[in-house]
Amino acid sequence: MTPETKIWRWARNTKVRHKQRGFQVKMTQNELYKLGLQAYKDGCPICGSAFEVGCAPVTINSLTLDIVDPTMRILAPGNVQCVCWGCNNEKNLKSMRKNSQSLQSGRISLKWG
Ligand SMILES: [Zn+2]
Repeated sequence: MTPETKIWRWARNTKVRHKQRGFQVKMTQNELYKLGLQAYKDGCPICGSAFEVGCAPVTINSLTLDIVDPTMRILAPGNVQCVCWGCNNEKNLKSMRKNSQSLQSGRISLKWG
């Protein structure tokens, strides 16, 4: 399977998952695909790692969609960016850490284990 095919599937899954989580999805699968493809060429804007696509289970470098302002609950151009799983979860974990100690240890075991 080519990276393009994997990113196309990623775009579809990303759309479906955000809808399921109650987001208003204002982007087409094609728009997400283009975003993902560009990110795949450029690497993660936060840590600079090359992305991996189509990996199951996810790896620290898996392509993920980050919602810039999650309080808006909207998936639209300008409110999304592609970052690696590690950076995306680092951000999520920072806000969750005060609530859950187990998530923090999960992150450590993933990274070092
Ligand atoms: Zn990153």
